[in-house]
Amino acid sequence: MQHANLPRNMIENSMFEEEPDVVDLTFPALDPDEVTYEPRSSRLLVRGLGENDMDDDEEDCESSARLLGMSFMNRSSAHRSNSSPYTRQAPPRSCSRPSSRTIVVCVLFLVIVASMTMVLYFLPACTFTKAGCPKPNKTNPIEPVYPISTNGELFPWAQLRLPQSIKPLSYDLTLNPDLDKMTFTGRTVINMSILHSTNRIVFHGANLSITKATFMASDVTVLEYKPRQQLAVNFSEELKAGQYCVLTMEYSANFSNTYDGFYNSSYIDKDGNKRVLAATQFEPLSARKAFPCFDEPAFKATFLIKISRKKTYMTLSNMPKAKSTNLSNGLVQDEFEKTSVNMSTYLVAFIVANFTSITKNVSGTQVSVYSVPEKIGHTEYALTITSKLLEFYNNFFDINYPLKKLDLVAIPDFLAGAMENWGLITFRETTLLVGNESSLLEKQVVASVIAHELAHQWFGNLVTMRWWNDLWLNEGFATYMEYMSLQEVSLPNYSALDKDALSSSHAVSTDVNTTEQVEEMFDSVSYEKGASILLMLNASFPGDQQFRKGIIEYLKQFSGLNTDTDDLWNSLTQTDKPTHHMNVSQMMTSWTSQKGFPLVTVNLMGNQVTLTQEHFLLTSDNTTHTLWNIPVTYVNDSCSLAPECRQVFTLKNKSDTFKLSKNVTWLKLNYKSTGFYIVDYGKDGWSALTEALSKNVSVLTHEDRASLIHNIFALSRLGRVTFRQVLNLQKYFSLETETSPVMEALLQLNNIYRQLEKRQESNLASQVHKLNTNQTWDKEENVSKQELRSALLEMACSLNDENCTHQATSLFKKYKDSNGTIRIPGDLQQTVFTVAGQSDETWDTLFNMYVHATYDSEKRKMLKGLASTQNPQRLVQILSSGLRGSLIQTQELPLIISTMCQSFAGCLFAWDFIQENWDRLIEKFPIGSFAIQTIIKSVTSQSSTQAQLNKVQAFFSGLKERGSQMRSVQEALETIKLNRDWMDRNLPTLRRWL
Ligand SMILES: [Zn+2]
Repeated sequence: MQHANLPRNMIENSMFEEEPDVVDLTFPALDPDEVTYEPRSSRLLVRGLGENDMDDDEEDCESSARLLGMSFMNRSSAHRSNSSPYTRQAPPRSCSRPSSRTIVVCVLFLVIVASMTMVLYFLPACTFTKAGCPKPNKTNPIEPVYPISTNGELFPWAQLRLPQSIKPLSYDLTLNPDLDKMTFTGRTVINMSILHSTNRIVFHGANLSITKATFMASDVTVLEYKPRQQLAVNFSEELKAGQYCVLTMEYSANFSNTYDGFYNSSYIDKDGNKRVLAATQFEPLSARKAFPCFDEPAFKATFLIKISRKKTYMTLSNMPKAKSTNLSNGLVQDEFEKTSVNMSTYLVAFIVANFTSITKNVSGTQVSVYSVPEKIGHTEYALTITSKLLEFYNNFFDINYPLKKLDLVAIPDFLAGAMENWGLITFRETTLLVGNESSLLEKQVVASVIAHELAHQWFGNLVTMRWWNDLWLNEGFATYMEYMSLQEVSLPNYSALDKDALSSSHAVSTDVNTTEQVEEMFDSVSYEKGASILLMLNASFPGDQQFRKGIIEYLKQFSGLNTDTDDLWNSLTQTDKPTHHMNVSQMMTSWTSQKGFPLVTVNLMGNQVTLTQEHFLLTSDNTTHTLWNIPVTYVNDSCSLAPECRQVFTLKNKSDTFKLSKNVTWLKLNYKSTGFYIVDYGKDGWSALTEALSKNVSVLTHEDRASLIHNIFALSRLGRVTFRQVLNLQKYFSLETETSPVMEALLQLNNIYRQLEKRQESNLASQVHKLNTNQTWDKEENVSKQELRSALLEMACSLNDENCTHQATSLFKKYKDSNGTIRIPGDLQQTVFTVAGQSDETWDTLFNMYVHATYDSEKRKMLKGLASTQNPQRLVQILSSGLRGSLIQTQELPLIISTMCQSFAGCLFAWDFIQENWDRLIEKFPIGSFAIQTIIKSVTSQSSTQAQLNKVQAFFSGLKERGSQMRSVQEALETIKLNRDWMDRNLPTLRRWL
């Protein structure tokens, strides 16, 4: 999946302090399936209740009970969907009203836990592991605690992950969507194999009402446990291992009104008529909303899909259509070929719409790009790029794309950037369609998203992570391949570094035990850090083919299977064996199993270099002794540009010294910024580099210059260098012309500017930017220059530079007067629309244009313009319109909020809005999802006062299970504290400077 693309300063950050580890006391279990107790199961079960309010002491009470594998509660509560999620095998003792008795019980349990902990700890040869004590002890086996199904019967499963006793082999799905009534019915036949004898089948289903279920021709009852979206069938006699069986279910459901599951979408066609369509988005947990299934990535199976439709519609699915049959009710049923590959449920997809397409045969694969009919003229670019990239990947991975067809579809209503469904990739219109007036940058975004989704057809679809804890294997790789396949795209690592410097960050490969935690994995650690460590690994191999050879091996070995992080490192270690260059597994595990990254300090004395590493952690109260295995690259004053100049030293210890062949005046570490670490050169080292750059800016590559700027700002945030030192480095800046260093400096200064503005230090703020903003308004042909120009112009106009606003206003007037026939160049549109949106005279005109515009990327720029207004009524108007989904699609709320938060007034309104409408927001965007992460980050990341911190803390802690536990909340609080501390330290210097 690809995030909706937002500029870096609008996304980034999130995460929540690692939960305290609950000692995992696993007792000998009754059932082989129960052996894999979830870690921290006590917390998990409590949180799994979903909507329930639970007092802290009740929670503790229940946790303690769970810890002992016992249940003593039979709670009931008015706003719970069923009477009780838990039952007990022992006599009930109510715990619903916290009382002194409750407290006594809790204390008692805690005492028991503590004493058992001690007893077990001191038992000889027994350690606390997930598998429990290796020697079976004498304790009687304890019944697992089963929750209660919706019908009041005991639900036979008590964990988030499904039991391993049954393996689905194939699904036969029949779907009958009714686009008028917004409902669908379905029939699912699951063929399965029994791996271990069992007397239950447990699988997933959410919001489906099962009307009939048969197992091998006999009727059966399907139980449902809603909080975990699980279904189950109980059997009085055991299903024997080795047996094959068939479960058939008929059901009905409403289309989902969020952006996941089988959902409906609509758009207005060129004649002004509303057109409806239905599409799917299943990753990560929503296939279960469309059909009952074993909805975990490791349960791969084949799928045969049939969909009925009106004659005026067409359907698409993963596979080519096999046949169409006229049904007696006047509808047509399309049947697709059975999937030729085993695939995970989250990759299944189908669409009912009336799209049109263009198509091309590429090395035996029929590639098509679909859009609504009026936008078919915007599909050509995507088809050309896809064809090139498909050939590139077929060759690069040395494995041909395995399906006969590949469809790319632009969906008018789509939340993510794109989704890699096998053979049927879905996109936002902005990430697939390119018009005549599109800027080069917009084309580059489209190319990157296509590169990302195509890479998934191998990384993710062919070889899939076993569980969501290793999501980075999908997303890190796909993100890495964007850079690999389209060389010119910029490096992925800065946003991930900024986020990973917080103690609320998490390891790339990390425990995932709740549905919210699954959603939270879709963050910059999985995407950008994942990609960055692959980039670092590739750069540390001596040749450029070794890494590629390793991943080809990995893909071939695990084709069609599921893997975890160790499998990848083992494959890469194998390919590295002949050269004995390094132990890949050892090195990379230090990057994937621990959070954060190192700060490397370099000390140069003549030809002797001392490197020291420490955890780069912005919160100073936390010292860790984490060490990384760092392939440190470096160049020096006599050879600094060509790849041959680069040398590598692997730093494994806290500190290490090596000698250079001759004396040098300076070293630049992390050549071209391919390593995931930050470097401090010490006072003398920074001075030497600044001096060298002031004499000749081209003494380092532009990537190296950008990384120096990024690093020194980060060190200033850490309190390691003074802001004066930062300003010293900026001295060379008048000579800087390349996009990436200028953009980096702009981004960093903008961040300070926004914080100052939100402290009402606006006089100070407006002087922060003294960069040359004399940009031209003519056509610019170079993509990176276009990017730079639009950033500088946006900045100039936002600071009310008269020349800028004047030019923008007159361009907008020309555009309006020509009825849209005179186009504004794509890279200038944002500046022009923002200026128009900030003026009371032109806001309504712009809003009117927005409502009637059809081209999605232009529309989004208009919307950003509209959201930059400071007028309270208008701000409220667009927020509420976005929430209702009338005139402004709800999918745009994160964009609206992040834009509003660029200004002081706008951000106040956004913050009020979020607090008032939190429940409606989490109805639309799941807790922990990327959209929610973006909203929280936008509204908090520029705050820097204690008062703001208190407000944010008070609101989020009051949410309890409605989101207070999200990592992004923890990250927001940490960020505000850091901003506060930085401002306290540096405000006097800033005042003097300005
Ligand atoms: Zn992806």
